[in-house]
Amino acid sequence: MQIVVDLTRCQGYAQCVFLAPEVFELHGEEGLLYTTAVPDDQVERVRQAAAACPVQAIVVGEAVSAGVR
Ligand code: SF4
Repeated sequence: MQIVVDLTRCQGYAQCVFLAPEVFELHGEEGLLYTTAVPDDQVERVRQAAAACPVQAIVVGEAVSAGVR
């Protein structure tokens, strides 16, 4: 599954890092780093992270190819 994080929206709340630490990582001044191709065993965690993001910055799966934000 593909994901995109809108880094102009991301406020570094780190909810996603907490929920899916293998996919999302916060790096001080660089901000959020993440894996765009999510491994199958992380998909459910990433969906939870997307739902938990306070600013809906995480776009997952089908919505990525559709260009939906
Ligand atoms: S939960 Fe949302 S705002 Fe917080 S670090 Fe992750 S993408 Fe950014």
